[in-house]
Amino acid sequence: MPYKHLNQYLRSDLHACISSENLISNVNQLKSLTKPGVKFCAVVKANAYGHGAIEIVNILKNAGVDFFAVASIYEALHIKTVVNSQQIMIFEPLYQHHDPEHIITCARNGFHCNITSMETLKYITEILRGSKEQLKLHINIETGMGRCGVDPDQAMEMIRNIEKSKNTILAGIYTHFATADEDDLSYAYAQLECFNKFLADNQLSNRDGLIIHAANSAATIKMPQSHFDMVRCGISTYGYFSRPQQNPPITLMPVMKLQAPLVQFKRIKKGESVSYGRSFIAKRDMILGLVSLGYADGYWRCFSNTALIKVNSDFAKVTGRVCMDQILVDVTDIPNVKLGQMVTVLDDQQDSPCNAYSLAELANTICYEILTCVHSHVKRIVY
Ligand SMILES: *Cc1c(COP(=O)(O)O)cnc(C)c1O
Repeated sequence: MPYKHLNQYLRSDLHACISSENLISNVNQLKSLTKPGVKFCAVVKANAYGHGAIEIVNILKNAGVDFFAVASIYEALHIKTVVNSQQIMIFEPLYQHHDPEHIITCARNGFHCNITSMETLKYITEILRGSKEQLKLHINIETGMGRCGVDPDQAMEMIRNIEKSKNTILAGIYTHFATADEDDLSYAYAQLECFNKFLADNQLSNRDGLIIHAANSAATIKMPQSHFDMVRCGISTYGYFSRPQQNPPITLMPVMKLQAPLVQFKRIKKGESVSYGRSFIAKRDMILGLVSLGYADGYWRCFSNTALIKVNSDFAKVTGRVCMDQILVDVTDIPNVKLGQMVTVLDDQQDSPCNAYSLAELANTICYEILTCVHSHVKRIVY
C-alpha cells in the first residue's frame, strides 16, 4: 500500500477547538447561493486547512456534501475510511512516475483523478488494460490559471482517448480561477468565457454523468455564472473569505479556535530583557505569562513582539521572541489570570485581533497559510 497510518504523537494540552455548528452553518450559507442540484465539494486538502481532515469529514459527511477534495492520493486514502457515500477527488495530476499500484488503488477506490498529459493517459491505460478496473478522470482546462491545466486545443483529443478506453471514464471537466478573490473580476470573467467557449465548441454541456465545475470559494460567493454542476469550497467552509470582505452577502463563522495552557508566571524588573536575542527590554516592572506553544506548533515566529493573544476577554501582547515551543505574554494589567488556564492564540471571533485575518496581516500572508500551519499534533476537539 502507498499509505500507512502514522504512529503519531499528540500534544493533548494544545487544543484546536472545532465548532461543528459553525462548519455546517458555513456549508449551508454557501449552498444557499447555488441552485438546487448543484453539487457541493468540500475541499479538505492540507488536513482540512489545518482543522483536522478526519474530524471535518466526520462532521460534513452527514451535512449535504457530495464530494471531498484533497491534494494527493495519500490524503484520499486517509479520509476514505470515514466518508459515507461521498466521492473523493484528488487535485494533484497523475503522472508517469506514479507507481502503477497508485493508479490501480485510485481506480479500485473510485477516486476522481486529475489528468493533464497525453503521455500519462497512455501510461494509465497500459497499466489498466485487460483489467476490470475503471478510473474516473477529470480534465483541468487551462483558461488562465497558469498552473497545471491542459490547453483547450489539446483537451478534445485527450477526451476522445479517455472515452475510447474501457478502463477510463470521463467524469469531469473543470477549470480554476486565478483572481476570483480580487475586487476586479475582469480576468476571472475572461477565464469563464474561455471555459464556456471550450464547452460550447465541443458540445460538452449537459452530458449525462459529466460534472462541469469551476468555482472556488470566492467564485461561489461572487460569480454565480461559474457554478455549473458543482462548486469546490475550501476556505469559506472554514468560516473565512479568501480575503476580508466589506458587506459580505453571506455570514461565515470561523470554525477553529487554537488554545494553549499558561504554565508559569515570570516577574521581571524594568530594564531586564526577554527571550532570545533580547528583542524586548522591559520599560517597567512586569508580569509575564509563559504559554506552552511556539512556532513548532504553527504559531509563527514573526508574531514576536506584535501579536495579541486572548486571556479570558482581554488581550495580552506577545513579549520577546516566539520560541520553538514557548511564548511569553504580558499579563501585567490583565485581571484574573490563573496558572494552568487556557489562552486563545488563534481566535474564532469575527473582529478579533487574533483571528486568522489579523494574524495573516501581521505575517504578511493570507489566512489560508495561518490556518494550514496549525500542526497536526495539536489535539482537535470537536464540539
Ligand atoms: C484549493 C482549491 C480549491 C479551494 O479553494 P478555496 O479558495 O479555498 O475555496 C478549489 N479548487 C482547486 C483546484 C483547488 O486547488
